[in-house]
Amino acid sequence: MSAAPAADDLDVVAGLLREVPDFPTPGIRFWDLTALLADGAGLAATTRLLGAPARDGGADVVVGIEARGFLLGAAVAQSLGLGVVAVRKEGKLPAVAARESYELEYGSAVLELPHDVLRPGTRALLVDDVLATGGTAAAACALVEGAGATVAAVAVVLELPALAGRSRLDGHTVHALLAR
Ligand code: AMP
Repeated sequence: MSAAPAADDLDVVAGLLREVPDFPTPGIRFWDLTALLADGAGLAATTRLLGAPARDGGADVVVGIEARGFLLGAAVAQSLGLGVVAVRKEGKLPAVAARESYELEYGSAVLELPHDVLRPGTRALLVDDVLATGGTAAAACALVEGAGATVAAVAVVLELPALAGRSRLDGHTVHALLAR
């Protein structure tokens, strides 16, 4: 991939992000990807950029984190010719390999890895929309690594550096398209 199209792609992505103040609670700056996902060129640009760390055989599977990570992860997986594994919120999966609880910027939650989809040695590209405090991505990394797989990279559309999520992902490659 040449540098020029990537710069164009980044402009397209940046232009379709929407900042929503005080959602879902006062004081939270929520980043809404609805317009980006709804735009064909925007989704294609996002998909190209997010999948970059896995191009040329850098990953064996994509892991998407609920819920916007499912949409992005499936698109990235399809573009790379890979499959996608959904890391889900608690109580959605009929067969669970492992679970991890974690703190969010607002509240706490549990993530679950489906049973019998990640083999030891599998290299997974983790995909989500936003890296905020890093709790979600760190929990997903722990689930992947707990299964004996490795994290090729954590790929997100947007990083919020003020919340220092990257510091929770020490030892992992963080591939953030934009920072706000
Ligand atoms: P964190 O675990 O704090 O890094 O939060 C990341 C997860 O929560 C991602 O799955 C995001 O979808 C969501 N999230 C957290 N903060 C925000 C925000 N300010 N805007 C949009 N999504 C967010």
